[in-house]
Amino acid sequence: MGTPIQVHNIDTHDAKRHLNEKIHTRSFQGVFRRVRIIAGTFLFALFFGTVWLTWNDRQAVLWDLSAKKFHIFSSTFWPQDLVLLSAILIVCAFGLFFLTVWAGRVWCGYTCPQSVWMWVFMWVEKVSEGDRNQRKKLDQAPFTGLKVYKRFKKHGLWLLISVFTAITFVGYFTPIRDLVPALLTFQAGGSAFFWVFFFTLATYLNAGWLREKVCVHMCPYGRFQSSMLDKDSLVISYDVSRGEARGGRSLGSDYKAKGLGDCVDCQMCVQVCPTGIDIRDGLQIDCIGCAACIDACDSVMEKMGYEKGLIRYTSERELNGGRLHIMRPRLVAYGALLVAMVLTLGWAIASRPLVSFDVAKDRGLYRFNAQGEIENSYTLKIINKSHERKQFNVSVKGLEGLNLIGPSSINLRSGEKLELPLSVSVKPALLAESMAEIEFYLTQSKDSDLSLVAKSRFTGRVP
Ligand code: SF4
Ligand code: SF4
Repeated sequence: MGTPIQVHNIDTHDAKRHLNEKIHTRSFQGVFRRVRIIAGTFLFALFFGTVWLTWNDRQAVLWDLSAKKFHIFSSTFWPQDLVLLSAILIVCAFGLFFLTVWAGRVWCGYTCPQSVWMWVFMWVEKVSEGDRNQRKKLDQAPFTGLKVYKRFKKHGLWLLISVFTAITFVGYFTPIRDLVPALLTFQAGGSAFFWVFFFTLATYLNAGWLREKVCVHMCPYGRFQSSMLDKDSLVISYDVSRGEARGGRSLGSDYKAKGLGDCVDCQMCVQVCPTGIDIRDGLQIDCIGCAACIDACDSVMEKMGYEKGLIRYTSERELNGGRLHIMRPRLVAYGALLVAMVLTLGWAIASRPLVSFDVAKDRGLYRFNAQGEIENSYTLKIINKSHERKQFNVSVKGLEGLNLIGPSSINLRSGEKLELPLSVSVKPALLAESMAEIEFYLTQSKDSDLSLVAKSRFTGRVP
């Protein structure tokens, strides 16, 4: 790790402001707002649309809790694949780490669900109650019919979005095509109603009421992001050397002669900030990297006829007179490691066995059967994880004269799990030791070189 850059902690600011004061953001236009709208629309479509996709007669993405299976398009993950799912999470976490080292909190600003839903809820608030000043006035106004109507409209729309979000989210765990009619006809079970209610409330509170407090006070990622950033990470910063001394001036005046910098001290960057901070105080832990202050300041610079970028994506090194140094060795090494992890994971997923085979020896040691042979009992555990029906042959090897007592050929549907009890016997004269290693083989009948082995022991009494 390089030297982390200085990120001011919330505690060095007026923390009470965040806990008590309501933040009314001002609307604004700009490049990064458009990027966020595109990213948010894409993610909304992905979240609300994917759950309705079908793949091979089943929901394309479904975490089927009752069957303990996770379907994602053509792949199905079983509890035995937990290691792979954990590996996917680790790779995602490393990807987020890489992104943060490179470009700061872009995840928070553009793609984190909390941010995406928060911006949508803020837009609903603006549509229902007006822009910043109108909302501030409305807060202080007495409860008239108009105020009640505006509040009702806002909270009604928030709740509607929250209900849709909750049903969609629950639909990733319970088939959505069954869930929706069951909810509408009140045929769904109590747990379905509970989780829909729970996630409705969570969405409504998080995106509508808590908003930036989730990012500033509750999200652990925001807390340790400062240790990931280095002097070359892209961060949103105010250019102090260009902006100071800040102060008002008339359009076209020779402000430099008065000792002023480019900042006109209009407060626009503060008024658009969803966490209510002043970026001119330096990089702060409360900054979620949304770039709203860049858009707001750029529009002011444009009106004043100044160069844009007083607040911009930059690095601490560049702000201190150095070069913007995006492709640094540390980042290249992390990038190479990330690519290697993704490729290894892709290979592990693609090559994982689609049949699981195991054997458990029954507790009893051995017995003599009607033919006078020594007999041991076992349970074969077979799972067909593939998407097609398969026929398998079962055989046993390891001792001369072993007889398999049980089916030697079995059929398993896609996704079927079988516990097959069977026995193995041998003539006492052929047993040289009281305990011998034996191997069960599972082979596929047609057009396949599948051959799985499960080892066990055969016990008996040596004559
Ligand atoms: S300081 Fe700027 S980038 Fe950071 S949260 Fe506020 S508006 Fe967004
Ligand atoms: S928007 Fe730009 S000009 Fe206005 S106060 Fe912020 S930094 Fe200064």
